[in-house]
Amino acid sequence: MSPENATPFDGWLEEDPEVARLLGEELDRQSTTLQLIASENFTSPAVLAASGSVLTNKYAEGYPGRRYYGGNQIIDEVEDLARERAKSLFGAEHANVQPHAGANANLGVYQALLEPGDTVLAMRLDHGGHLTHGSPASITSKVWHFVSYGLTGASEDPDTPGEVIDLDQVAHLAKTERPKLIVAGATAYARTIDPVPFREIADEVGAYFMFDGAHPAGLIAGGVHPSPVGIADVMTFTTHKTLRGPRGGAIVCRADLAKRIDSAIFPGLQGGPLEHVVAAKAVAFAEAATPDFRRYAAQVVANAKALATSLKAAGFRLVSGGTDNHMVLVDLRPFDAELTGKEAQEVLDRAGITCNRNTIPDDPRSAFITSGLRLGTPAETTAGMGTAEMATIAELISRTLSQRSDESAIAAVRAEVAELCAAFPPYPSLMAGAAGRG
Ligand SMILES: *Cc1c(COP(=O)(O)O)cnc(C)c1O
Repeated sequence: MSPENATPFDGWLEEDPEVARLLGEELDRQSTTLQLIASENFTSPAVLAASGSVLTNKYAEGYPGRRYYGGNQIIDEVEDLARERAKSLFGAEHANVQPHAGANANLGVYQALLEPGDTVLAMRLDHGGHLTHGSPASITSKVWHFVSYGLTGASEDPDTPGEVIDLDQVAHLAKTERPKLIVAGATAYARTIDPVPFREIADEVGAYFMFDGAHPAGLIAGGVHPSPVGIADVMTFTTHKTLRGPRGGAIVCRADLAKRIDSAIFPGLQGGPLEHVVAAKAVAFAEAATPDFRRYAAQVVANAKALATSLKAAGFRLVSGGTDNHMVLVDLRPFDAELTGKEAQEVLDRAGITCNRNTIPDDPRSAFITSGLRLGTPAETTAGMGTAEMATIAELISRTLSQRSDESAIAAVRAEVAELCAAFPPYPSLMAGAAGRG
């Protein structure tokens, strides 16, 4: 391995140069291309350290004070710390930090609150909902009966652009379908989700209300999205999206649901918890409670708004007309009727701009092809980019897509992307470590 390719992983992975090389290459990819996937972020080195720790060695089935294996004295302290920090971060009565992922957190709540066959009212997938909200491809739809609400139609009026959650439809379906659980939350929705009307509708029909905060959890912690805690019965979330922690899930809920939620996760759904990830979650919860993180969350939203404004100026239509959160959903059709989400994603990848294709509401193309793109600001905001960089990124996207058959134009964008990324390295300490080692 040449010195310039040396990475901080080489020392620990001396016996496995193949994996060491791949880790180094991925660090390089993350540092030299733009990360605009709305569900991704750059964790702190402290989060990386905790998730790469000896805690991975420990079996800890059960919960603090009630384990099935010996030797869990320290693990209990770790998990208690994570639970206390989660509770304090969100002002919640109870926290479960064991879900391996956001999907597991949702499955755990369904299992805790529902019997098989019970009805759940959640957001349509093709309007922005998540697989675990009843997709035919997900086990959730095989065990429970899902009914879906969607968005209102688009309008030409810039003051009321539409394509927001259709609360009248939520209320109507709640009355006619009598769900036992109502789910709010989305994977591709650029607007604030107010938990209050969902609570009112749930109360009218005697349903539980779960807020799936997988995406906005960091914005909620940072005070730039209304908190559903204390309004919803349960909030599930991921720790790796806007919250900027390790890959994983978590649940906060009222104290009276604690026992049911805990036993639904273990032994209901999972075996041994990933305590190295639980430690990293504890680190992330503490980071998210700082004034720095509040500034970060506000900047994430300011950056998304700046990106939205510049994209609109470049001729793109945005679903719901703009954004309140960390993402924008681009409808590519008015920009170029021939351009699919799949092709746009691929050409942007070649230009060093990483994002994902996404269906737009009532997309005429399949979920594999799509007519849209989803772009997010959490990762590059962590790297230090601001609104000026967002304007540059919008211009680079527009140029790449309009000159997509011109390889030299794509190469020119790729070079500009590399220059931009070089000014905002996500892991300067790791790169410095690599240079030192070389
Ligand atoms: C990302 C997401 C999930 C699932 O999280 P994973 O960690 O990928 O399992 C659940 N719900 C919503 C709304 C999401 O966006």
